Amino acid sequence: MATATASVGSATKNGVRRELFKSPVFDEVGLPRDSDNLYLQTVDTMLTAAEMLELPHEVQIILAQPKNEIMVHFPVRMDDGTFKLFKGYRVQHNNSLGPYKGGIRFHPDVHLDDVKSLALLMTMKTSLVRIPFGGGKGGVKCDPHALSRNELMRVSRRFIAAISHAIGPDYDIPAPDVGTNAQVMAWFADTYESLTDSNRNSWDAMRVVTGKPVEIGGSLGREKATGQGVVDTLVEIAPELGIKVEGMRFSVIGYGNVGSWTARILGRMGAKLVAVLDHTGAIREDKGIDTEELAGHVAKHGGVGGFGSATKVSTEEFYRTKVDVLVPAALEQMIKEQEAGWIDAKVIAEGANAPTTPAGDRVFNERGIEIIPAILANAGGVTVSYFEWVQNKSCVTWDAEEVDQALNRHMVMAARRTKLMRQRFNCDMRTAAYIAALENIGKVYAVRGIFP
Ligand code: GLU
Repeated sequence: MATATASVGSATKNGVRRELFKSPVFDEVGLPRDSDNLYLQTVDTMLTAAEMLELPHEVQIILAQPKNEIMVHFPVRMDDGTFKLFKGYRVQHNNSLGPYKGGIRFHPDVHLDDVKSLALLMTMKTSLVRIPFGGGKGGVKCDPHALSRNELMRVSRRFIAAISHAIGPDYDIPAPDVGTNAQVMAWFADTYESLTDSNRNSWDAMRVVTGKPVEIGGSLGREKATGQGVVDTLVEIAPELGIKVEGMRFSVIGYGNVGSWTARILGRMGAKLVAVLDHTGAIREDKGIDTEELAGHVAKHGGVGGFGSATKVSTEEFYRTKVDVLVPAALEQMIKEQEAGWIDAKVIAEGANAPTTPAGDRVFNERGIEIIPAILANAGGVTVSYFEWVQNKSCVTWDAEEVDQALNRHMVMAARRTKLMRQRFNCDMRTAAYIAALENIGKVYAVRGIFP
Protein backbone atom coordinates (compact mmCIF):
# COMPACT_ATOMS: atom_id res chain seq x y z
CA MET A 1 0.00 0.00 0.00
CA ALA A 2 1.40 3.39 -1.00
CA THR A 3 1.76 5.97 1.73
CA ALA A 4 0.68 9.50 1.00
CA THR A 5 3.18 12.29 1.44
CA ALA A 6 2.69 16.01 1.71
CA SER A 7 3.87 16.47 -1.87
CA VAL A 8 1.05 14.36 -3.30
CA GLY A 9 -1.89 16.44 -2.10
CA SER A 10 -3.62 18.53 -4.73
CA ALA A 11 -6.38 20.65 -3.20
CA THR A 12 -5.21 24.19 -2.56
CA LYS A 13 -6.35 26.93 -0.21
CA ASN A 14 -4.72 30.34 -0.44
CA GLY A 15 -2.34 28.72 -2.89
CA VAL A 16 -1.13 26.22 -0.26
CA ARG A 17 -1.40 22.52 -1.04
CA ARG A 18 -3.00 20.26 1.49
CA GLU A 19 -1.72 16.80 2.38
CA LEU A 20 -3.71 13.79 1.19
CA PHE A 21 -5.82 11.83 3.71
CA LYS A 22 -5.67 14.32 6.58
CA SER A 23 -9.32 13.90 7.50
CA PRO A 24 -10.05 11.82 10.63
CA VAL A 25 -13.12 10.52 8.79
CA PHE A 26 -10.90 7.94 7.01
CA ASP A 27 -10.26 6.16 10.31
CA GLU A 28 -13.79 6.65 11.59
CA VAL A 29 -15.42 4.89 8.64
CA GLY A 30 -12.65 2.32 8.27
CA LEU A 31 -11.10 3.47 5.00
CA PRO A 32 -7.38 2.84 4.38
CA ARG A 33 -5.04 5.55 3.08
CA ASP A 34 -3.83 4.45 -0.35
CA SER A 35 -2.89 7.22 -2.74
CA ASP A 36 -3.11 4.91 -5.78
CA ASN A 37 -6.76 4.06 -5.13
CA LEU A 38 -9.23 6.15 -7.12
CA TYR A 39 -12.02 5.78 -4.59
CA LEU A 40 -9.86 6.96 -1.71
CA GLN A 41 -8.58 9.89 -3.80
CA THR A 42 -12.16 10.92 -4.59
CA VAL A 43 -13.21 10.65 -0.95
CA ASP A 44 -10.19 12.76 0.00
CA THR A 45 -11.10 15.53 -2.44
CA MET A 46 -14.68 15.45 -1.17
CA LEU A 47 -13.63 15.56 2.51
CA THR A 48 -11.13 18.38 1.91
CA ALA A 49 -13.92 20.47 0.39
CA ALA A 50 -16.30 19.39 3.16
CA GLU A 51 -13.89 20.59 5.85
CA MET A 52 -13.39 23.97 4.18
CA LEU A 53 -17.17 24.33 4.02
CA GLU A 54 -17.52 23.08 7.61
CA LEU A 55 -20.06 20.52 6.45
CA PRO A 56 -21.51 18.79 9.52
CA HIS A 57 -19.61 15.69 10.62
CA GLU A 58 -22.60 13.38 10.16
CA VAL A 59 -22.92 14.36 6.49
CA GLN A 60 -19.19 13.81 5.97
CA ILE A 61 -19.30 10.24 7.30
CA ILE A 62 -22.44 9.44 5.29
CA LEU A 63 -20.81 10.63 2.05
CA ALA A 64 -17.52 8.83 2.74
CA GLN A 65 -19.12 5.45 1.93
CA PRO A 66 -21.84 4.47 -0.59
CA LYS A 67 -25.22 3.45 0.78
CA ASN A 68 -25.31 0.18 -1.19
CA GLU A 69 -22.73 -1.88 -3.06
CA ILE A 70 -24.31 -4.60 -5.17
CA MET A 71 -22.16 -7.29 -6.79
CA VAL A 72 -23.61 -9.97 -9.05
CA HIS A 73 -22.33 -12.95 -11.04
CA PHE A 74 -24.37 -14.23 -13.96
CA PRO A 75 -23.92 -16.84 -16.72
CA VAL A 76 -24.27 -15.97 -20.40
CA ARG A 77 -24.45 -18.39 -23.35
CA MET A 78 -21.84 -17.52 -25.97
CA ASP A 79 -22.42 -18.00 -29.71
CA ASP A 80 -20.42 -21.25 -29.71
CA GLY A 81 -22.81 -22.80 -27.17
CA THR A 82 -20.46 -22.56 -24.16
CA PHE A 83 -21.32 -20.53 -21.04
CA LYS A 84 -19.22 -17.78 -19.46
CA LEU A 85 -19.66 -16.29 -16.01
CA PHE A 86 -19.67 -12.47 -15.82
CA LYS A 87 -19.24 -10.13 -12.86
CA GLY A 88 -21.27 -6.94 -12.55
CA TYR A 89 -21.69 -4.09 -10.06
CA ARG A 90 -24.19 -1.41 -9.14
CA VAL A 91 -23.11 1.05 -6.49
CA GLN A 92 -25.70 3.41 -5.02
CA HIS A 93 -23.80 6.20 -3.36
CA ASN A 94 -26.40 8.66 -2.10
CA ASN A 95 -30.08 9.45 -2.74
CA SER A 96 -30.72 12.43 -0.49
CA LEU A 97 -31.45 14.66 -3.51
CA GLY A 98 -33.51 12.09 -5.43
CA PRO A 99 -33.30 8.64 -7.07
CA TYR A 100 -29.85 7.16 -7.65
CA LYS A 101 -28.60 8.02 -11.14
CA GLY A 102 -25.60 7.09 -13.20
CA GLY A 103 -24.15 5.16 -16.08
CA ILE A 104 -23.22 1.52 -16.55
CA ARG A 105 -19.94 0.73 -18.21
CA PHE A 106 -18.80 -2.41 -20.01
CA HIS A 107 -15.02 -2.64 -19.78
CA PRO A 108 -12.39 -5.30 -18.93
CA ASP A 109 -10.98 -3.10 -16.12
CA VAL A 110 -14.20 -2.54 -14.16
CA HIS A 111 -13.45 -2.89 -10.42
CA LEU A 112 -15.56 -2.24 -7.35
CA ASP A 113 -13.46 0.68 -6.06
CA ASP A 114 -13.56 2.46 -9.42
CA VAL A 115 -17.33 2.06 -9.62
CA LYS A 116 -17.61 3.40 -6.04
CA SER A 117 -15.53 6.42 -7.02
CA LEU A 118 -17.64 7.10 -10.11
CA ALA A 119 -20.83 6.79 -8.02
CA LEU A 120 -19.52 9.40 -5.56
CA LEU A 121 -18.62 11.66 -8.48
CA MET A 122 -22.21 11.32 -9.74
CA THR A 123 -23.54 12.48 -6.37
CA MET A 124 -21.34 15.57 -6.70
CA LYS A 125 -22.30 16.19 -10.34
CA THR A 126 -26.05 16.00 -9.93
CA SER A 127 -25.85 18.29 -6.92
CA LEU A 128 -23.59 20.81 -8.66
CA VAL A 129 -25.95 21.13 -11.66
CA ARG A 130 -28.96 21.05 -9.33
CA ILE A 131 -30.95 18.17 -10.75
CA PRO A 132 -33.07 16.08 -8.35
CA PHE A 133 -31.02 12.88 -8.51
CA GLY A 134 -28.50 11.15 -6.30
CA GLY A 135 -25.37 9.32 -7.42
CA GLY A 136 -24.93 5.75 -8.64
CA LYS A 137 -22.76 3.85 -11.08
CA GLY A 138 -22.49 0.32 -12.43
CA GLY A 139 -20.41 -1.86 -14.61
CA VAL A 140 -19.82 -5.28 -16.09
CA LYS A 141 -16.32 -6.65 -16.37
CA CYS A 142 -16.20 -7.57 -20.07
CA ASP A 143 -14.77 -6.44 -23.39
CA PRO A 144 -17.79 -5.34 -25.43
CA HIS A 145 -15.69 -5.22 -28.63
CA ALA A 146 -14.85 -8.91 -28.28
CA LEU A 147 -18.56 -9.88 -28.06
CA SER A 148 -20.87 -10.47 -31.02
CA ARG A 149 -24.04 -8.37 -31.15
CA ASN A 150 -26.08 -11.28 -29.81
CA GLU A 151 -23.61 -11.96 -27.00
CA LEU A 152 -23.65 -8.26 -26.09
CA MET A 153 -27.45 -8.38 -25.99
CA ARG A 154 -27.48 -11.44 -23.72
CA VAL A 155 -24.87 -9.91 -21.36
CA SER A 156 -26.96 -6.70 -21.20
CA ARG A 157 -30.23 -8.51 -20.54
CA ARG A 158 -28.80 -10.92 -17.94
CA PHE A 159 -27.04 -8.11 -16.08
CA ILE A 160 -30.12 -5.93 -15.84
CA ALA A 161 -32.16 -8.99 -14.81
CA ALA A 162 -29.60 -9.67 -12.05
CA ILE A 163 -29.97 -6.14 -10.60
CA SER A 164 -33.66 -5.58 -11.50
CA HIS A 165 -34.72 -5.86 -7.84
CA ALA A 166 -32.40 -2.97 -6.96
CA ILE A 167 -33.30 -0.41 -9.68
CA GLY A 168 -36.53 1.32 -10.73
CA PRO A 169 -37.86 4.40 -12.57
CA ASP A 170 -38.19 6.32 -9.29
CA TYR A 171 -35.42 4.57 -7.35
CA ASP A 172 -32.30 4.01 -9.46
CA ILE A 173 -31.98 4.96 -13.12
CA PRO A 174 -29.00 3.65 -15.15
CA ALA A 175 -27.66 5.29 -18.34
CA PRO A 176 -24.86 4.80 -20.88
CA ASP A 177 -21.18 5.09 -20.00
CA VAL A 178 -17.90 3.79 -21.46
CA GLY A 179 -18.62 0.72 -23.64
CA THR A 180 -22.42 1.03 -23.58
CA ASN A 181 -24.78 3.01 -25.84
CA ALA A 182 -28.42 3.69 -26.72
CA GLN A 183 -28.90 0.14 -28.07
CA VAL A 184 -27.70 -1.37 -24.78
CA MET A 185 -30.11 0.99 -22.96
CA ALA A 186 -32.96 -0.30 -25.19
CA TRP A 187 -32.15 -3.89 -24.15
CA PHE A 188 -31.94 -2.81 -20.49
CA ALA A 189 -35.31 -1.03 -20.65
CA ASP A 190 -37.03 -3.85 -22.52
CA THR A 191 -35.72 -6.48 -20.11
CA TYR A 192 -36.67 -4.49 -17.02
CA GLU A 193 -40.15 -3.81 -18.42
CA SER A 194 -40.64 -7.51 -19.22
CA LEU A 195 -39.61 -8.57 -15.72
CA THR A 196 -41.69 -6.10 -13.76
CA ASP A 197 -45.38 -6.24 -13.03
CA SER A 198 -46.05 -3.42 -15.41
CA ASN A 199 -48.59 -4.67 -17.93
CA ARG A 200 -50.73 -1.62 -17.33
CA ASN A 201 -47.96 0.98 -17.51
CA SER A 202 -45.31 -0.65 -19.63
CA TRP A 203 -44.22 2.63 -21.24
CA ASP A 204 -43.58 4.17 -17.84
CA ALA A 205 -41.39 1.24 -16.77
CA MET A 206 -38.96 2.17 -19.58
CA ARG A 207 -38.22 5.33 -17.60
CA VAL A 208 -35.91 3.08 -15.56
CA VAL A 209 -33.15 3.91 -18.05
CA THR A 210 -32.07 7.13 -19.81
CA GLY A 211 -29.95 7.54 -22.91
CA LYS A 212 -32.47 5.37 -24.79
CA PRO A 213 -32.93 5.56 -28.58
CA VAL A 214 -35.39 8.37 -29.46
CA GLU A 215 -37.82 5.77 -30.88
CA ILE A 216 -38.50 4.47 -27.36
CA GLY A 217 -38.47 7.70 -25.39
CA GLY A 218 -34.88 8.89 -25.63
CA SER A 219 -34.33 12.65 -25.67
CA LEU A 220 -33.15 14.67 -28.61
CA GLY A 221 -29.71 16.03 -27.79
CA ARG A 222 -28.81 13.25 -25.30
CA GLU A 223 -26.13 11.69 -27.49
CA LYS A 224 -24.09 14.88 -27.81
CA ALA A 225 -25.02 16.18 -24.33
CA THR A 226 -21.76 15.50 -22.48
CA GLY A 227 -19.70 17.14 -25.25
CA GLN A 228 -22.15 20.04 -25.41
CA GLY A 229 -21.80 20.48 -21.64
CA VAL A 230 -17.99 20.56 -21.90
CA VAL A 231 -18.33 23.34 -24.48
CA ASP A 232 -20.96 25.27 -22.49
CA THR A 233 -18.76 25.36 -19.37
CA LEU A 234 -15.68 26.25 -21.39
CA VAL A 235 -17.48 29.14 -23.07
CA GLU A 236 -18.58 30.43 -19.65
CA ILE A 237 -15.14 30.15 -18.05
CA ALA A 238 -12.76 30.79 -21.01
CA PRO A 239 -12.92 34.63 -21.09
CA GLU A 240 -11.55 35.03 -17.58
CA LEU A 241 -8.76 32.60 -18.40
CA GLY A 242 -7.83 34.82 -21.34
CA ILE A 243 -9.08 32.41 -24.01
CA LYS A 244 -11.37 33.11 -26.94
CA VAL A 245 -13.08 29.96 -28.18
CA GLU A 246 -13.18 31.17 -31.78
CA GLY A 247 -9.74 30.51 -33.23
CA MET A 248 -8.36 28.71 -30.16
CA ARG A 249 -6.19 25.59 -30.58
CA PHE A 250 -7.23 22.45 -28.74
CA SER A 251 -6.38 18.76 -28.45
CA VAL A 252 -8.43 15.79 -27.32
CA ILE A 253 -7.70 12.47 -25.62
CA GLY A 254 -10.24 9.88 -26.80
CA TYR A 255 -12.49 10.31 -29.84
CA GLY A 256 -15.53 8.39 -28.62
CA ASN A 257 -18.86 9.99 -27.72
CA VAL A 258 -17.52 12.78 -25.46
CA GLY A 259 -14.29 13.56 -27.35
CA SER A 260 -15.81 13.59 -30.81
CA TRP A 261 -18.86 15.67 -29.86
CA THR A 262 -16.75 18.19 -27.96
CA ALA A 263 -14.41 18.49 -30.95
CA ARG A 264 -17.22 18.73 -33.50
CA ILE A 265 -19.08 21.44 -31.57
CA LEU A 266 -15.89 23.42 -30.93
CA GLY A 267 -14.95 22.96 -34.60
CA ARG A 268 -18.27 24.48 -35.68
CA MET A 269 -17.52 27.44 -33.39
CA GLY A 270 -14.25 28.14 -35.20
CA ALA A 271 -11.80 26.44 -32.80
CA LYS A 272 -8.99 24.37 -34.32
CA LEU A 273 -8.40 20.71 -33.35
CA VAL A 274 -4.65 20.16 -33.71
CA ALA A 275 -3.97 16.79 -32.02
CA VAL A 276 -5.80 13.66 -30.88
CA LEU A 277 -4.66 10.65 -28.86
CA ASP A 278 -6.59 7.40 -28.49
CA HIS A 279 -5.97 3.66 -28.05
CA THR A 280 -4.89 3.40 -31.72
CA GLY A 281 -2.23 6.11 -31.54
CA ALA A 282 -1.75 9.87 -31.74
CA ILE A 283 -2.16 12.25 -34.68
CA ARG A 284 -1.23 15.91 -35.16
CA GLU A 285 -2.06 18.46 -37.83
CA ASP A 286 -1.03 22.04 -37.27
CA LYS A 287 -3.42 23.39 -39.92
CA GLY A 288 -6.32 21.78 -38.04
CA ILE A 289 -8.06 18.40 -38.27
CA ASP A 290 -11.53 18.14 -39.86
CA THR A 291 -13.54 17.03 -36.82
CA GLU A 292 -16.45 15.56 -38.83
CA GLU A 293 -14.20 13.60 -41.18
CA LEU A 294 -12.29 12.25 -38.20
CA ALA A 295 -15.57 11.09 -36.61
CA GLY A 296 -16.37 9.20 -39.84
CA HIS A 297 -12.88 7.64 -39.86
CA VAL A 298 -13.23 6.50 -36.21
CA ALA A 299 -16.68 4.99 -36.89
CA LYS A 300 -15.16 2.98 -39.75
CA HIS A 301 -11.76 2.01 -38.33
CA GLY A 302 -12.34 2.02 -34.56
CA GLY A 303 -9.79 4.74 -33.77
CA VAL A 304 -7.91 7.82 -35.01
CA GLY A 305 -4.83 5.87 -36.22
CA GLY A 306 -4.20 6.24 -39.96
CA PHE A 307 -6.37 9.32 -40.41
CA GLY A 308 -5.90 11.27 -43.65
CA SER A 309 -2.87 13.51 -43.98
CA ALA A 310 -2.38 14.02 -40.22
CA THR A 311 1.08 13.17 -38.91
CA LYS A 312 1.43 10.16 -36.65
CA VAL A 313 3.18 11.28 -33.46
CA SER A 314 4.29 9.65 -30.22
CA THR A 315 2.26 9.92 -27.02
CA GLU A 316 4.84 12.30 -25.58
CA GLU A 317 4.71 14.50 -28.71
CA PHE A 318 0.93 14.57 -28.41
CA TYR A 319 1.11 15.85 -24.84
CA ARG A 320 3.80 18.39 -25.70
CA THR A 321 1.70 19.91 -28.51
CA LYS A 322 1.08 23.58 -27.71
CA VAL A 323 -2.65 24.25 -27.32
CA ASP A 324 -4.94 26.61 -25.48
CA VAL A 325 -7.18 23.81 -24.18
CA LEU A 326 -6.67 20.07 -23.73
CA VAL A 327 -9.80 17.95 -23.35
CA PRO A 328 -9.19 14.52 -21.76
CA ALA A 329 -12.27 12.55 -22.83
CA ALA A 330 -11.22 8.94 -22.36
CA LEU A 331 -10.73 6.86 -19.21
CA GLU A 332 -9.83 7.81 -15.64
CA GLN A 333 -6.32 8.51 -14.35
CA MET A 334 -4.61 9.04 -17.72
CA ILE A 335 -2.82 12.24 -16.71
CA LYS A 336 -0.21 11.40 -14.12
CA GLU A 337 2.79 13.43 -12.96
CA GLN A 338 4.78 12.82 -16.14
CA GLU A 339 1.98 13.68 -18.58
CA ALA A 340 1.09 16.79 -16.56
CA GLY A 341 4.73 17.87 -16.86
CA TRP A 342 4.69 17.42 -20.66
CA ILE A 343 1.40 19.21 -21.30
CA ASP A 344 1.67 22.62 -22.99
CA ALA A 345 -1.87 23.98 -22.44
CA LYS A 346 -3.46 26.87 -20.58
CA VAL A 347 -6.57 24.95 -19.54
CA ILE A 348 -7.60 21.32 -19.03
CA ALA A 349 -11.33 20.79 -19.60
CA GLU A 350 -12.06 17.39 -18.07
CA GLY A 351 -14.56 15.70 -20.39
CA ALA A 352 -13.88 12.29 -18.82
CA ASN A 353 -14.50 11.34 -15.21
CA ALA A 354 -11.41 11.74 -13.00
CA PRO A 355 -8.81 11.85 -15.83
CA THR A 356 -6.16 13.53 -13.62
CA THR A 357 -4.36 11.84 -10.72
CA PRO A 358 -3.62 13.88 -7.55
CA ALA A 359 0.05 13.96 -8.60
CA GLY A 360 -1.00 15.32 -12.01
CA ASP A 361 -3.22 17.87 -10.29
CA ARG A 362 -0.30 19.03 -8.16
CA VAL A 363 1.87 19.58 -11.25
CA PHE A 364 -0.90 21.58 -12.92
CA ASN A 365 -1.34 23.71 -9.80
CA GLU A 366 2.41 24.37 -9.63
CA ARG A 367 2.57 25.27 -13.32
CA GLY A 368 -0.49 27.51 -13.15
CA ILE A 369 -2.50 25.38 -15.59
CA GLU A 370 -6.23 25.75 -14.87
CA ILE A 371 -8.50 22.72 -14.62
CA ILE A 372 -12.22 22.80 -15.34
CA PRO A 373 -13.03 19.78 -13.16
CA ALA A 374 -14.98 16.76 -14.38
CA ILE A 375 -17.88 17.13 -11.96
CA LEU A 376 -18.59 20.42 -13.72
CA ALA A 377 -17.30 19.92 -17.27
CA ASN A 378 -18.84 16.52 -17.95
CA ALA A 379 -22.17 16.93 -16.15
CA GLY A 380 -24.02 17.62 -19.41
CA GLY A 381 -24.81 13.95 -20.01
CA VAL A 382 -26.62 13.37 -16.75
CA THR A 383 -28.37 16.74 -17.10
CA VAL A 384 -29.97 15.74 -20.39
CA SER A 385 -30.70 12.31 -18.86
CA TYR A 386 -32.76 14.22 -16.33
CA PHE A 387 -34.58 16.03 -19.18
CA GLU A 388 -35.29 12.63 -20.78
CA TRP A 389 -36.72 11.31 -17.52
CA VAL A 390 -38.90 14.44 -17.11
CA GLN A 391 -40.18 14.12 -20.70
CA ASN A 392 -41.00 10.42 -20.15
CA LYS A 393 -42.72 11.13 -16.83
CA SER A 394 -44.89 13.87 -18.30
CA CYS A 395 -45.43 12.24 -21.75
CA VAL A 396 -44.07 15.16 -23.76
CA THR A 397 -41.21 15.61 -26.21
CA TRP A 398 -38.95 18.63 -26.20
CA ASP A 399 -37.42 19.86 -29.43
CA ALA A 400 -33.64 19.96 -29.81
CA GLU A 401 -33.47 23.70 -29.22
CA GLU A 402 -35.37 23.43 -25.95
CA VAL A 403 -32.98 20.71 -24.74
CA ASP A 404 -29.91 22.74 -25.71
CA GLN A 405 -31.19 25.89 -24.01
CA ALA A 406 -32.12 24.10 -20.79
CA LEU A 407 -28.76 22.32 -20.74
CA ASN A 408 -26.94 25.60 -21.26
CA ARG A 409 -28.79 27.18 -18.33
CA HIS A 410 -27.81 24.33 -15.98
CA MET A 411 -24.18 24.31 -17.13
CA VAL A 412 -23.74 28.08 -16.96
CA MET A 413 -25.26 28.25 -13.47
CA ALA A 414 -23.05 25.37 -12.28
CA ALA A 415 -19.98 27.13 -13.71
CA ARG A 416 -20.96 30.36 -11.95
CA ARG A 417 -21.47 28.52 -8.65
CA THR A 418 -17.98 27.06 -9.02
CA LYS A 419 -16.42 30.46 -9.78
CA LEU A 420 -18.18 31.97 -6.80
CA MET A 421 -16.89 29.29 -4.42
CA ARG A 422 -13.39 29.68 -5.82
CA GLN A 423 -13.50 33.35 -4.88
CA ARG A 424 -15.16 32.77 -1.51
CA PHE A 425 -12.76 30.03 -0.39
CA ASN A 426 -9.72 31.16 -2.39
CA CYS A 427 -9.11 27.61 -3.62
CA ASP A 428 -8.58 25.71 -6.87
CA MET A 429 -11.50 25.11 -9.21
CA ARG A 430 -11.86 21.39 -8.43
CA THR A 431 -12.21 22.01 -4.70
CA ALA A 432 -14.59 24.91 -5.45
CA ALA A 433 -16.87 22.67 -7.54
CA TYR A 434 -17.04 20.10 -4.72
CA ILE A 435 -17.82 22.85 -2.21
CA ALA A 436 -20.69 24.12 -4.41
CA ALA A 437 -22.06 20.56 -4.68
CA LEU A 438 -21.66 19.81 -0.97
CA GLU A 439 -23.28 23.04 0.15
CA ASN A 440 -26.49 21.96 -1.59
CA ILE A 441 -26.39 18.45 -0.08
CA GLY A 442 -25.69 19.94 3.36
CA LYS A 443 -28.81 22.10 3.12
CA VAL A 444 -30.92 19.08 2.15
CA TYR A 445 -29.67 17.08 5.15
CA ALA A 446 -30.23 20.09 7.41
CA VAL A 447 -33.92 20.24 6.53
CA ARG A 448 -34.59 16.51 6.08
CA GLY A 449 -32.63 15.35 9.11
CA ILE A 450 -31.41 11.79 9.54
CA PHE A 451 -33.91 9.01 10.25
CA PRO A 452 -35.17 8.21 12.90
N1 GLU B 1 -22.35 8.01 -17.65
C1 GLU B 1 -22.58 9.41 -17.71
C2 GLU B 1 -21.82 10.12 -16.60
O1 GLU B 1 -20.93 9.59 -16.01
C3 GLU B 1 -24.06 9.76 -17.72
C4 GLU B 1 -24.85 9.34 -16.54
C5 GLU B 1 -26.36 9.53 -16.69
O2 GLU B 1 -26.78 10.06 -17.72
O3 GLU B 1 -27.07 9.12 -15.78
O4 GLU B 1 -22.04 11.27 -16.32
